[in-house]
Amino acid sequence: MRFGLFGGTFNPVHLGHLRAALEVKEGFELSKIFLIPAALPPHKIPGDVVDAGDRLQMLNLALEDKAEISVSDIELKRSGPSYTIDSVKYFKSTLPEKSQIYLVMGLDAFLEIDSWKSYEELLQQVSIIVINRPKKNRLFSGDGWKRLDEYLTSGISGGYKFSESQSCYLSADKQPIFIFEVTALDISSTKIRSLIKEGRSIGYLVPRKTAEFIKSRGLYL
Ligand code: ATP
Repeated sequence: MRFGLFGGTFNPVHLGHLRAALEVKEGFELSKIFLIPAALPPHKIPGDVVDAGDRLQMLNLALEDKAEISVSDIELKRSGPSYTIDSVKYFKSTLPEKSQIYLVMGLDAFLEIDSWKSYEELLQQVSIIVINRPKKNRLFSGDGWKRLDEYLTSGISGGYKFSESQSCYLSADKQPIFIFEVTALDISSTKIRSLIKEGRSIGYLVPRKTAEFIKSRGLYL
């Protein structure tokens, strides 16, 4: 069985996250993909991030009737910062023994992986699926996959080579890294938060029940 782990701050969850999760699940024939909100995201400014319980609730409301995508509160149950390596170890110890686990992340997130805790071990433990992220910021206005290629072949390790036949990067001592194109939806949580601050609608960018929750709790105002 194959499983996907898709971590993030989800501050708040939006349709870019959900569509990407669905397309990865179908593309890699995953039995399940877990969206995993971080309790204390090590890479974000804390003041910007709403309470973890609210972010979890927004995800649960977004996914209420989507059996193929699940939410995991594993990182909210741990104390301290949420490190992906700890979540990977948790899923490895709880999923059926021969499961294949894929970590899913946007290109923007992947290009910072060398700042993550125990990233070398992470690359040894799980396969990664890197998905495209449209216009996240000006840094990525060039050819994003070219940046990924440079990062993998001469940046972080030098040990990766692209395999045309398997459509992924392979390394002698690490798990494969796949690149996967999802429908490019130019939506970010930052954009959602600024629309709310400006008093504008977030309709059709965020699932309806999540948007109602944001409004009722007065989040991001
Ligand atoms: P923020 O704008 O606050 O930085 P975000 O929209 O990037 O937030 P995160 O929760 O930080 O959302 O992202 C979680 C994961 O989802 C990351 O791997 C990110 O690259 C990916 N992701 C976010 N938005 C999209 C999108 N529109 N399409 C594809 N992947 C996305």
